[in-house]
Amino acid sequence: SEQSPGVDVVVVGGGIGGLANALALTLKGLRVRVLEQAHEFGEVGAGLQIAPNCTRILHHWGLLDEVKSLGVLPESIVMKDALNGDVLTRLDLRDVERRYGFPYMVIHRSDLHGTLLRACRRAGVELVNDVAVTGYEQAEGGAVAVHDGGRESAQVVLAADGLRSVARRIVSDDEPVSSAYVAYRGAVPFDQVAGLDAQPKDVVVHVGPRCHFVQYSLRQGEMFNQVAVFESPKALAGEADWGTPDELDAAFAATCDQVRAGLPLMWRDRWWRMYDREPIMNWVRGRIALTGDAAHPPLQYLAQGAVMAMEDAWVLSEHVGARGGAGAPGTSAGVDWDAALAAYNAVRPQHCRRVQTTARAWGNLWHHDGEKREWRNAVLRERDVYDYGYVDWLFGPTALTPGHLPPMFPEYGE
Ligand code: FAD
Repeated sequence: SEQSPGVDVVVVGGGIGGLANALALTLKGLRVRVLEQAHEFGEVGAGLQIAPNCTRILHHWGLLDEVKSLGVLPESIVMKDALNGDVLTRLDLRDVERRYGFPYMVIHRSDLHGTLLRACRRAGVELVNDVAVTGYEQAEGGAVAVHDGGRESAQVVLAADGLRSVARRIVSDDEPVSSAYVAYRGAVPFDQVAGLDAQPKDVVVHVGPRCHFVQYSLRQGEMFNQVAVFESPKALAGEADWGTPDELDAAFAATCDQVRAGLPLMWRDRWWRMYDREPIMNWVRGRIALTGDAAHPPLQYLAQGAVMAMEDAWVLSEHVGARGGAGAPGTSAGVDWDAALAAYNAVRPQHCRRVQTTARAWGNLWHHDGEKREWRNAVLRERDVYDYGYVDWLFGPTALTPGHLPPMFPEYGE
């Protein structure tokens, strides 16, 4: 059994959420150890959209220039009908940047993860691989993460262990909820999309019956990223083997030329079944707290999952800083952890619940068919491009204390 001398906080999981928390707390003067089960730190998948509520935080951490140099700042998000290709509405991302003070960007996941990893190393975060945490215990003035090789104790254990979090069982007995939707991804060199009518300066989202298709360029325009998402008939029928490439082809058979032209570029050897969870309003027990997807995995339709994870990290670290910070260098005796965790728990579940429920409703709206599709298209066409009523609550500064959230958009629901 191993104690953890000199460590104030143990973070379980080294994804974007875990690294963001480790960095933010280290910048407040704490000593942080990250335990990651994988043999190496890394990310699979392709692109990530990062909205201004998160580029604001990356700026705060001194990382915005680096991520901008690795990513792309698109000019617009354009929503089109997947069946006929008609433009339905758009967001002017130059105006978005003016309005919120920070850009909307897209970046390769591994580039964002790599930026956080390098920043953690520079800041002195202790990064440990090949450690799978199997249990958690409360302790006097702290908590313990238990793994095969021993025990890691600290004043606080933060669980950033993702959708299938082990730690979540401490506060909830819920399970991931299958949406019966599956995502295919594919990122290819831009020269491979020459014949595609690819728009290098836009994020294009084609919304269609039970499916949608997203395209944007990555890595300063060197790569083109596509995501194809559809409802799996085999999942609805209760079959275990769902989301297979034959279902991909069938789901998009009736879509417009631009969408069908992109499909052959998808990676066909792996796919991501889409799960979220019911929102829960308590993420803290004693000195153990959930963060990132462990706390609030959304469906990805608002592109705020990784963003929320980084917001969690910023909010908790600000409350830690406001409640004693690290005291003398090398000690954290001064932090009032119970107050900091309570302040975090008072604001983040409220916001993330809204994102999770809105993402489900937004997905429903995207995937309408028949008369509902006609109605949806009419509503979106009428929308004033410069009406930010639906995104102010998302893109504005991340709240540190609970406040008023706008009403849900009942017209989006089923
Ligand atoms: P994860 O990335 O799941 O990381 C968890 C880490 O913990 C992993 O490294 C894992 O190996 C480790 N771990 C797990 N269990 C243990 C254990 N027991 N012990 C030790 N280590 C453990 N978000 C956006 O903001 N914008 C987007 O555009 C966007 N698009 C998306 C598109 C798709 C198709 C999908 C599926 C998601 C998308 N998301 C997006 C969501 C985003 O990917 C996630 O919300 C985010 O990556 C969650 O980060 P996390 O660190 O909380 O969890």
